[in-house]
Amino acid sequence: MNKVLIIKYGEIALKGMNKPYFERVLMERIKKAIKGFPGANVWRYEGVVFARTDDPEKLPEMAQEVARVFGVSTVSIAAEVESDPETIFPAAAEYMKEIRQQQKIYTFKVEAKRSNKQFPIISPEIARKAGGSILKACNDDPNYPLRVNVHTPDCLLFMDVRRDKTYIYHDKMEGFGGLPLGTNGKGLVLLSGGIDSPVASWMMAKRGMNIEAIHFHSYPFTSDRAKEKVLDLVKVLAGYCGRIKVHCINLLEIQQAINEHCPEEQMTILSRRFMMRIAERLAADVRADVLITGENVGQVASQTVQGLVVTDNAVQMPVMRPLIAMDKVDIMAIAQKIGTFDISIQPYEDCCTVFLPKHPSTKPKLESILRSEANLDVEGLIERAFQTMEEYTINPE
Ligand code: ATP
Ligand code: MG
Repeated sequence: MNKVLIIKYGEIALKGMNKPYFERVLMERIKKAIKGFPGANVWRYEGVVFARTDDPEKLPEMAQEVARVFGVSTVSIAAEVESDPETIFPAAAEYMKEIRQQQKIYTFKVEAKRSNKQFPIISPEIARKAGGSILKACNDDPNYPLRVNVHTPDCLLFMDVRRDKTYIYHDKMEGFGGLPLGTNGKGLVLLSGGIDSPVASWMMAKRGMNIEAIHFHSYPFTSDRAKEKVLDLVKVLAGYCGRIKVHCINLLEIQQAINEHCPEEQMTILSRRFMMRIAERLAADVRADVLITGENVGQVASQTVQGLVVTDNAVQMPVMRPLIAMDKVDIMAIAQKIGTFDISIQPYEDCCTVFLPKHPSTKPKLESILRSEANLDVEGLIERAFQTMEEYTINPE
């Protein structure tokens, strides 16, 4: 039997006038994700996207690649046969025979859908006939019987009868949903080596946003290994987003200046404001529409609402904080799912920990922060920080 991937999308289906645009971008993204498979091809047919390869053995691997494409809600490997009553019922039986050799199935149910209203048999009747054909073909071994169970079947078999072709499948691999990459502008993410900011990047990319990253280090107080850890995180993100550019900037002179001229408890909030200003300036150069951070209300001392307000005040540009109201356990679960967690927990020092104040200010007042900054050559410090910038282009593995 000829096998193909049947690819469904969630939210794009709800789009109005813009739907063709989103569908086109989605197909381009899928095409790119599977271009390494022999004879890979993607097409759309009656509102569903399909893909195939010349090597059907590779379909499970190809399905996994497709499931990682943002915008895809489910992927299934389906048998594709002619939409003809003479063909679809024996095909359903053959399909069931085949999958019962791969997994133990004692009960099943057929769910049929007829988008082709010219097809002479209505959906419930298709399901009933396919069920009959399957029962007849699959009950030759008394030690391995097969029965219908409409409530809790071992196998739910889908039959999707379309104009020319009918698709028979049973397993649905879950995709991430969201919107295709490149349909929602570009964000510059402030990327530390922690758990949160990689998840924040991934969440915005899942909404279709292209990602570029800026990372601050305090070399030689922070090691080269700490920077490599960040690049390793970006490599994982690139697996979802394609090539990502990372800009690394040394924050040490700024931190030393703050350390020398400002109250100790303001260290974190003042360095965060510098990070934001530098990021805002870089965003203009790289044409990013917004900044992205992994900040979250209440997670650490610098992320109280007052702290966030004072941080936000440093820049004019919109700052997206997709984790703002999430619990840490839920953020960690996403980090696990997307494959960044194990890298994030590697114990390398971050630039923020180098000058960590003993008692960070949890309710900073903007006036007091501005007074402290008046003691600093803010423009000169930013200018010199920019001169330490190194750029890396990270490709997916
Ligand atoms: P993360 O897990 O992302 O490091 P966190 O909980 O440790 O977050 P903070 O260290 O307070 O939180 O940082 C808050 C946000 O500030 C981070 O999510 C990130 O967006 C940004 N940030 C912090 N440190 C850096 C850094 N060294 N380089 C770039 N951005 C940073
Ligand atoms: Mg951090």
